[in-house]
Formats: sequence, structure tokens, C-alpha cells
Amino acid sequence: MEQVLHFIDGAFVPSEDGRTFDNLNPATGERIGMVAEGGRAEIDKAVRAARRAFRTWGRMPAQERAAILHRIANLIEENLEELALLETADTGKPLSLAKSLDIPRSAYNFRFFADFVKGLSTETFEMEGVALNYALRRPVGVAGLISPWNLPLFLLTWKVAPCLAAGNTCVIKPAELTPMTATKLAEICKQAGVPDGVVNVVHGFGPDAAGQFLTEHEDVDLISLTGETTTGKAVMRSAANTLKRLSFELGGKNPNIVFADCDFEDAIATTVRSSFVNQGEVCLCGSRIYVESPLYDRFVEALVDRARKLRVGDPLDPQTDVGSLISEEHLERVDGFVRRAMEQGGRVLVGGRRPEHLKRGAFYEPTVIVDVDETCEITRQEVFGPVVTVQPFDTEEEVIRLANDTHYGLSATLWTSNLKRAHRVAGELEAGVIWVNTWFLRDLRTPFGGMKQSGIGREGGVHSFEFFTELKNVCIKL
Ligand code: NAD
Repeated sequence: MEQVLHFIDGAFVPSEDGRTFDNLNPATGERIGMVAEGGRAEIDKAVRAARRAFRTWGRMPAQERAAILHRIANLIEENLEELALLETADTGKPLSLAKSLDIPRSAYNFRFFADFVKGLSTETFEMEGVALNYALRRPVGVAGLISPWNLPLFLLTWKVAPCLAAGNTCVIKPAELTPMTATKLAEICKQAGVPDGVVNVVHGFGPDAAGQFLTEHEDVDLISLTGETTTGKAVMRSAANTLKRLSFELGGKNPNIVFADCDFEDAIATTVRSSFVNQGEVCLCGSRIYVESPLYDRFVEALVDRARKLRVGDPLDPQTDVGSLISEEHLERVDGFVRRAMEQGGRVLVGGRRPEHLKRGAFYEPTVIVDVDETCEITRQEVFGPVVTVQPFDTEEEVIRLANDTHYGLSATLWTSNLKRAHRVAGELEAGVIWVNTWFLRDLRTPFGGMKQSGIGREGGVHSFEFFTELKNVCIKL
């Protein structure tokens, strides 16, 4: 069986000690390969290679780097079929989704930042007759890029593209459950002309392993992590000794607020998507649904009806809406949340179990739970699966209080045709991204990130470059 290898200094290599771990396809339970398990030795080698490569990559004119990034985008598009198949085998997500969302967006991430970097500017201040100050923007150095398993290439390229565009080099630590597209990306980078050492990939686990060794490495300057809030806290601790620059995109428990004056069809169709797309394994999924009382019964009935009609099954079948969860362990975790919600009085209107027609794989039915309140675990903890709760509300003040009653603050969605209310409520919600009458619509120039314990910093457009560059002021006496 072929082994998924590390990519260090331009070459695919196994671990020095030969260690590997299994890679499973969650939709079948089958072992699809072995993955090299990196440790301190691999992280050290990769960081050394990245540091060496930084001396040339960081000095290359942005135009030239941008041209290479466009070639990476072209190659991602040329390899779309293969990349989508790898992503589906690793994650269990529908192939149709990998083809229409994950992989095209990964290519676009490179195009977007390749173009954006060419227009970056800095400020100039003239002290009349005395001095002229201008700022130079410089890459920071070696970045550790740590990615999650839910949108593996999509979210990894959201980091790699601005990192490279700005002139940094990197060591990537992909999620251990989804090693394959990151490895293919390394091959594509080489083919596109990225010099050896600029992009390195080390596979392995997080705590006390490759992930942690990367975050505590004294020659890594910055860490960009997407993952759980608890992981953010651990990384912050291990990066503290070397005072690294940190960017965190963490968990969410996002409210989806439906006012009675909304466009019903729009609200319900989008809510089905924001609840169950990618098996609900999207940090931005609106897992806490609040519906204004006059609309509550009609909305719940329609949501349950549509959730029941979603086709759960073989990710390779083009008719499939909902694929497999990432792993059996994750399914047990999701199911545990549902069981405990029922013990706390929650009523499962649809789902709450494995589909009967599927004999293997980590499949779970889209699940709608009612009769819960803000004291229940299910409305407070991130489930990260196809599970939503629905609660009625009576007033704007009440729903704002409920929506903000969480230590998360990633995104929020609201549905209303009242313009004044839309602005008012959007202004009050404590979340980094607010959608009004839509969901998941992204302009990559806008700031993306979480408030409270959903993250640190913002990504997108100039915000990504604020993280991946240093500003240096030059003061010239006239
Ligand atoms: P995770 O935190 O378990 O793992 C993410 C990555 O961190 C993996 O590569 C893992 O190996 C690594 N890691 C884990 N512990 C580490 C440690 N101590 N030191 C260094 N690295 C460590 O997250 P996951 O289960 O892969 O992804 C799901 C989570 O990610 C959810 O909480 C979800 O909300 C969040 N997420 C957030 C966003 C966002 O943009 N805010 C996007 C996607 C996912």
C-alpha cells in the first residue's frame, strides 16, 4: 500500500524513524493508505529548509511570486477531478461538493491573493520641512500553517496563498484525518516552480506531536491555525515562549435568526443548506436556529420535511446531499450530544441516528431538535455535525440576548425584510461575520474571523497581509 509522505525541501520523504499511521475512508471504513507520522526531526528539517528558502523567496519581486501562484491555481484546476476524489476519500463529503466548492475555491484562493499582493500599498507621512516617513512592507519569515479536516484544501490554501504571496515560506501540518490533498498540493507547487524549501508538508498529530513541535519551534515566526477553540488555547500556550504572531480561526455555535417578516422560501432553503451542507461540518453552520413565534410551527414543519428528504449516502453518487461524517469517533461524539440533549428534555423531530439503509460508514441523519433552551449542552457546545436546534422567540431584544449568550462569536445569520431591523440587529450581534438574508456568501476582500473565543485576528484581503507581513517605518530627515 502506497504511503503518503512528508514533503521537505522539495522532496517526498518518509519519517526518519519509519513511523506511519493509517488513513481510513470514513464512508467505507476501509484503510486507503498509510501516512508518514512526523515528529521533532521532521519539523526541524522542514523549518531549516523553510528558513533557508526564505532568503530568496522573500526577496523575489511580488510580480514573480504572483505569476507562480497563478500557475498553482491553473494546476489545481487541471487536477480538479483527482483532487476532488482525494478530498472525498479522506473526508466522506459528497464528491459533487468537492468538485463544485472545495477545489475550485482552492484555486481561486491562489488567484485572489496573487492579484491582491500586487496592489498592496503603505502609508507615507511628511513632517513638513523636517522629515519624510514611509513604511516598507516585508514578509515575516517562516510560517507554521495548521489546518483542519472539514474543508482540507479550501482552508489550507486560504493560508498558503497569502503566506506565499507576501514572501513567507511555510511548514504545513495538515489535519491527520485528511492528509492527501495537502500532499498533492506540494507536488503541484513544485510543478508550478515554487523553489525547494518554500513549501514543506509534515504529517502527523497535534498534541505532543508534529503540530505542537511546530508551534513551539524557536525558528518559526508565525502560526496560522484553523481548528477547535481548545486547540487554539493549547497552541497559544506552546507558542508563548517564543512570542509568535498568531492567527486563529476557531469553533462556532452560530445563531440563525428568522423573523416572521422574512422571505420564507429563501430562509428555509438556505437554512437547510446552512444546517446540513458538508454534513454540518462547517464552522459557519447555523446550528442554533431561532424563529419568531408566529412563524415557528410552519418553519419547523418545513425544515423537518426537507431534512427528511435529503439523500444521505455514498459520497460518489451525484444524487447524494449528505455524505459521511469524518470518522466513527466523531459520529459517536455527535450522537452523544444528541442523546444528552434528549436526556435534558430535547425532542428529536427527525434524524438522531444512523440511516438504516447504510450498513457501513460514519453516516448520520440530518437531525432537528426542539424543546431545548439556553441551559442545555446542545445549545452551548459546538457539535460540528448535521444537528440543529430550533427555539421560538417573541422579541428582538430576547433573540439578541439568546444569540449572544455564548462564548463563541464566529458568524450569525438573520432573516428579515425590515431594513431598519436588519441594520439594528446586525449591529448588536456579537459575531465576526453577519449575514442578512443569505449565508456563506463571501467576498474575499472582506475581513473574516471570529469574536470572543472563535478566533484571533482577521483573514481576507488586506487583513491576511496584515498578518503575513511586517511594517517597517523609515524616517528620513530632510
Ligand atoms: P482540531 O483543533 O482538532 O485540529 C485542527 C488542527 O490542529 C489539526 O491539524 C490538528 O492536528 C492540529 N492540532 C490539534 N491539537 C494541536 C496542538 N496541541 N498543537 C498543535 N496543533 C494541534 O480541529 P478539527 O477537528 O480538525 O476541525 C474542526 C474544528 O475546526 C471545529 O471546531 C471548527 O469549528 C473549527 N473550524 C473553524 C473554522 C474557522 O474558520 N473559524 C473553519 C473550519 C473549522
